[in-house]
Amino acid sequence: MKSNYSFLVKLLMVQCLAISSASQGYDFFYFVQQWPGSYCDTTQGCCYPTTGKPATDFGIHGLWPNYDDGSYPSNCDPNNPFDLSLISDLTSQLQVSWPSLSCPSSDDTSFWTHEWDTHGTCSESVLDEHAYFQAALNLKSQASTLQFLESAGIQPDGGFYNLTSIQNAIQGGIGYEPYIECNTDASGNSQLYQVYLCVDYNGSSFIDCPVFPTGGSCPSSIEFPTF
Ligand code: AMP
Ligand code: AMP
Repeated sequence: MKSNYSFLVKLLMVQCLAISSASQGYDFFYFVQQWPGSYCDTTQGCCYPTTGKPATDFGIHGLWPNYDDGSYPSNCDPNNPFDLSLISDLTSQLQVSWPSLSCPSSDDTSFWTHEWDTHGTCSESVLDEHAYFQAALNLKSQASTLQFLESAGIQPDGGFYNLTSIQNAIQGGIGYEPYIECNTDASGNSQLYQVYLCVDYNGSSFIDCPVFPTGGSCPSSIEFPTF
């Protein structure tokens, strides 16, 4: 009887493993852009990468596989770690568009490594490493967030702007409603930190968000710091 029971337990465990690996996957991506001035304007501060001060533009934070219920997979394949040699043709574009700002200064590859290992491996069945980074670069060139904001008179000048006017400017440019995430500066002011747009399963087109993120919500008026 006891051995029957332990056999059943083992069978159940094997089935659970099979189900959890089969349900790896995702429904859509968040494409997350970051305002470098807001990453730096915090008590923690920032460090410019060894390649120099990043462009005065939104940078890529990540392309994150997500589920429609708001949860997300992470660190999906330890057997497929980041390999810089696979994207050697993209590194000069990535240095401009996907800069690292964490301290100590790095050559950006540690940030790309983190993003690939944590998020990219969860969509590797659809986008291999090269396709993943290429997809993020393509999305960034379609979503000229700073241009959309500046055309609406919203400049990174340290001024305060209505959250709604920021959302409308980006939605007017890209055609889809963004989620705006705020962080706070050393004096406690909320500022425009990250812009989330939703992207289809293939990583190629923007879509209406199946679900919006919930963290880092903004008050009605927020600062747009200089960089
Ligand atoms: P990371 O890119 O791993 O450094 O993630 C940055 C932050 O964003 C983390 O603190 C997570 O809480 C959040 N985050 C990461 N991935 C997702 C995701 N797919 N959906 C929603 N939030 C996420
Ligand atoms: P957050 O979205 O601020 O919760 O960031 C989550 C993690 O991603 C933290 O460990 C950050 O240091 C890291 N991170 C976010 N943006 C950058 C960036 N531009 N460069 C390097 N690390 C970053």
